[in-house]
Amino acid sequence: MFNLVLFGPPGSGKGTQSDKLVASYGLIHLSTGNLLRKEIADQTPLGLSAKSYIDSGKLVPDQVVIGMVDSFFDQHIGAKGFLFDGFPRTVAQAQALDELLTKKNTAISLVVALEVSEEELVKRLLQRGQTSGRSDDTDESVIRKRFAVYTQETSPVAEHYRLSGKFRSIAGEGSIDSIFAGICAQIDANS
Ligand code: AMP
Repeated sequence: MFNLVLFGPPGSGKGTQSDKLVASYGLIHLSTGNLLRKEIADQTPLGLSAKSYIDSGKLVPDQVVIGMVDSFFDQHIGAKGFLFDGFPRTVAQAQALDELLTKKNTAISLVVALEVSEEELVKRLLQRGQTSGRSDDTDESVIRKRFAVYTQETSPVAEHYRLSGKFRSIAGEGSIDSIFAGICAQIDANS
């Protein structure tokens, strides 16, 4: 299996690049943000409890997200690999993911981080908010809160993977195709 984590702050282009990567490499796309938005749209108990966290720019509790990922794996037995987008977002999630993958006799193959300046991120998110229908993209104070959460809770995840030698950083600004080529070069060099 080839298991890729696409890492980076909100607005760094993980979703856009995930769509292209899934089409090229046949990986199963696991976006915890998309799964949570689906739970909200379906008005499930999980969705109803997650909504207030998402709307205020906070992280949904680890146990909720890890449980959701575990059942996603159960629904995709036989996958040739996963593309993790927006997960793991805390060190506890990264450790839980390592354990879940070990049980499946596999592991994270590579982590590619997209580097984008905060000024560019805010611009992209506000622009996305005009069409995405995502309330967490329209309020600049919620966007700033998401960055603060990223710095405090998510950026330590990079160190978790750096220690295992699986972490690569690339420039996340430029054309969609040039960034995609940068990610593909990393995958091809590490698979
Ligand atoms: P995203 O679509 O990845 O930007 O996620 C949107 C929101 O969903 C985040 O701001 C969090 O509130 C929540 N969320 C998504 N993924 C996770 C995760 N792995 N852990 C905790 N909360 C998450």
